[in-house]
Amino acid sequence: MASIPRPPVVAVMGHIDHGKSTLLDYIRTANTAAGEEGGITQRISAYEVLHKVADGSEKKITFLDTPGHEAFSKIRMRGASVADVAVLVVSAEDGVKPQTLDALKAIKSAGIPFLVAINKIDKPNANVLKTKQSLAEHEIYVEGYGGDITSVPISAKTGEGVPDLLDMILLTTDVLGHTGLVTNSAEGIVIEAHTDKKTGTNATLIVKDGTLKCGDFIVCGKAWAPVRYIEDFRGKKIPSATFSSPVRLTGWSELPDVGDIFTIAKNKNEAMEKATAYKESGSHGANTQAVITTPTSEAHIPVVIKADAQGAIDAILHEIAKINNDRISYKIVHTGVGDIRETDAKIAMAKEGTIIVGFSVTIDKQADALRERHGLEIKSFGIIYELADYLKELLIARTPKKMVEEHCGTLKVLKFFSKMKDKQVIGGRVEMGIIEVDAPVKIMRRDNEIGRGHIRELQSQKIKTSAVNEGTECGLMLDAKIEVAPGDKLESCRMIEK
Ligand code: GDP
Repeated sequence: MASIPRPPVVAVMGHIDHGKSTLLDYIRTANTAAGEEGGITQRISAYEVLHKVADGSEKKITFLDTPGHEAFSKIRMRGASVADVAVLVVSAEDGVKPQTLDALKAIKSAGIPFLVAINKIDKPNANVLKTKQSLAEHEIYVEGYGGDITSVPISAKTGEGVPDLLDMILLTTDVLGHTGLVTNSAEGIVIEAHTDKKTGTNATLIVKDGTLKCGDFIVCGKAWAPVRYIEDFRGKKIPSATFSSPVRLTGWSELPDVGDIFTIAKNKNEAMEKATAYKESGSHGANTQAVITTPTSEAHIPVVIKADAQGAIDAILHEIAKINNDRISYKIVHTGVGDIRETDAKIAMAKEGTIIVGFSVTIDKQADALRERHGLEIKSFGIIYELADYLKELLIARTPKKMVEEHCGTLKVLKFFSKMKDKQVIGGRVEMGIIEVDAPVKIMRRDNEIGRGHIRELQSQKIKTSAVNEGTECGLMLDAKIEVAPGDKLESCRMIEK
């Protein structure tokens, strides 16, 4: 049997609020048959649509329903690129923003082609030309603006231009000529994994080649599962699935890791053996039950992470790795899929200052009681960016203070009057800032520090004063071992906490 074209798998990326979720929602509702949506009770992280092309035929496209490049990067870090093409969403109101560039970086390192969707063209302030210019300023050269990157103006809200975008996605990937062989045994990638109270271990996979059938034994890194039934993206049971379909399987020996590649074993024994061998080889990814990150700085904030899915934990770990400074960083002491429970609170109580962060999970009663009693810091979020912002703020708040010297004024020595032991009486002019009584000073001669001293007294127009401002002449008594001379400069400084 010959290879046949494989439908493209598409990742939608871009800056927050530029319309990724709205676009994904629009495509899903406009391109899947009415009524099918009703059946979905659980979140599934990818879906398929059928798009009618010019010749009247319908072509399949798979969308990864996980906007945000963190999860995408995580999968890529495991050495696989689940998406064949990316859509970079850029708002026609705002143009290129920092996360647009982050997304672009992730796309480039995945080595996949991308298209630009210039979104929100229905809005009164939308400016497609200006957006193209803004793209060019950031070296994203679209057609007509110095390059050959396809850009499609769209409105994710009204749907205008979305069919063109789907056409262009198909055109872009047709050229790549991805094919698959249905007679092969299935192979693909895990895009999401979580534990569910009712159904146990769940994983969403994208089949990249071959056919996955009921009765197969699937192996995925350290985890394996008998394929008892396959659910499609609508939650409907299907006997088999081929490329590029997203499917959900339950009943894993343990949760597979996001980004892991799955294959099919001949039988149950082989599946178990492969999973064990993988575990023993130590080639598996992070041990998510007790990941201990090496802090990059001396102080650290211990953190427990709980989330509804393994993919979310991976995305949070990826975020946390970026949040640190030279004085403090986070140290992950425990991670797990599921609600925040008493056991998590107890882990946090073991070390003072430990925080618990949750994503799409609740804090159960026992954990909440311990939080109240022991003043634990426990927070759960529904949006990754908010969680990351919270961690950034907390890091700043907990950064150990350091005493630093702040330069607050410079006085030029004009006259040397007298000296008695270490006390010198001099006259000078404040050239910059302010000079205050009791301030420590550096004595500078031709830009070199030759010693240090202390201002004992200040006089302005023969009257004692506590401070003299810029441009003013004054007399002062300096306490210093070094004898100053006209032309020297006194730089006053104070120690401040930073
Ligand atoms: P995301 O953070 O990139 O997923 O952005 P969202 O899809 O959540 O969109 C952010 C906001 O922009 C929401 O209030 C959307 O309703 C709005 N929005 C997204 N696309 C469009 C569009 O094409 N036109 C208009 N008028 N609003 C849009």
